[in-house]
Amino acid sequence: MSGFHDTIAAETTPHGHGGISVLRISGRNAIEIAQKIVRTRKSIQDSPSHTVHYGHIHDGQRQIDQVLVSIFRAPNSYTGEDVVEISCHGNPFIVSQILAIILRYARQAEPGEFTQRAFLNDRIDLTGAEAVNDLIHAQTRQAQAVALEQLEGSLHHRIEALLSRITQIRMQMEIEIDLSDQNLADTDWSAMRTECEALVTELGELIRTGQEGRILREGLKIALVGPPNVGKSSIFNAFLETERAIVTPHPGTTRDYLEEAVAIEGYLLRLYDTAGIRETPDEIEQIGIDRSGKMIQQADRVLFITELDTTEDEMERLETLTGRKNVLRVINKSDLLSDQQAEAFEKDDYIVCSATKPGGLHTLKNRLLEDIRVSQIELHSGILTNARQIAAASRAETSLRQALDAIGNGVGPEFVAFDLKEASQALEEIIGRISSEDLLNRIFSDFCVGK
Ligand code: GDP
Repeated sequence: MSGFHDTIAAETTPHGHGGISVLRISGRNAIEIAQKIVRTRKSIQDSPSHTVHYGHIHDGQRQIDQVLVSIFRAPNSYTGEDVVEISCHGNPFIVSQILAIILRYARQAEPGEFTQRAFLNDRIDLTGAEAVNDLIHAQTRQAQAVALEQLEGSLHHRIEALLSRITQIRMQMEIEIDLSDQNLADTDWSAMRTECEALVTELGELIRTGQEGRILREGLKIALVGPPNVGKSSIFNAFLETERAIVTPHPGTTRDYLEEAVAIEGYLLRLYDTAGIRETPDEIEQIGIDRSGKMIQQADRVLFITELDTTEDEMERLETLTGRKNVLRVINKSDLLSDQQAEAFEKDDYIVCSATKPGGLHTLKNRLLEDIRVSQIELHSGILTNARQIAAASRAETSLRQALDAIGNGVGPEFVAFDLKEASQALEEIIGRISSEDLLNRIFSDFCVGK
């Protein structure tokens, strides 16, 4: 995305029929363009910021639509530039005609380009820009809450606080470097070490929030595995029937398993049903098992579903598929169990459930939500929400550990200062104080046009 100083335009509402559609123009000529294409009673160019004007758009003599024009003068706009938003009747046929007229004077905006300009003009930091995209795609209360907190600057503030503490140590190291030959620096090395240790711990905590953040945004991936007829599909369907089923955020292509998503208590659960993969005892079965095996590897939780009749053989076969962490053992058809049998399974750490009994999935749902509930306070203090942020925070943590080693080994303030600088840079990348064009293009190309 180049030509930062030109004027860009795009439809900013989804393309389709509705009450209104909004076209946005941003850049130094935005207001002049609006004046050229909209006939209004009062001059748009002479009007103050944050005013709305009624007018008409014509193409030559032909009237196109009645519109409302909102003007936002730099720097008090979404992008930080002069911005005009034209609200017209919500009809793609009308929108295309208006856009075509605007594009005689401006360039079509690329995906995410308005938000990229907001970032480049310091209206928002990079975590804020990412939050805008997350907010647009949020499908659950929790995904919405985390995106809003991030947009309000929760993560930004947490990173800034860490950065300012690292800067304090860096400043002391610079003094040490400058004055070391005179032995005047008076550095309290033990305090430096304690502070670095505290920072390593806090970064570790921050990195751990990345797992929660990812699950809040993308949902908890849950694979349902087990021998035939234990009730996998019934559990899968019971979830969908009793909870709010939502459009899956990541539609798959090849399906050896079914995927559906539900929202429970504002959390997104993505269920994968592997039922049916064992029905043909041949090569095809093997392909199905392999594919499901891969899916199981990617799952956050594997529900290992059994029933009273499940044989040892079947258990062993399943163990090979799921022999890993995050496996929850489930015994279904609890309605067929005596109280003593149910208790015995519970003692063996099985989740006892029934897909067919009303309320029979209660315990299972609670167990699934138990580890992913995030408090409002935690969201407010800022959490990492994507792989880019997690990778950068991990690099910062590694550099801080190296700084700590350098202090421990007494190799000299230059080395400590170097590692601390690397740690700062990694954290600055998270908020976008340091960024490459390549990185920005990658982030903003994920956006839709018009945002
Ligand atoms: P899958 O092959 O593992 O997907 O199993 P299905 O979901 O197709 O279920 C197999 C059979 O078990 C069906 O007849 C279901 O109605 C029955 N079933 C599933 N869950 C329960 C349950 O909780 N209690 C009882 N009694 N039957 C169940």
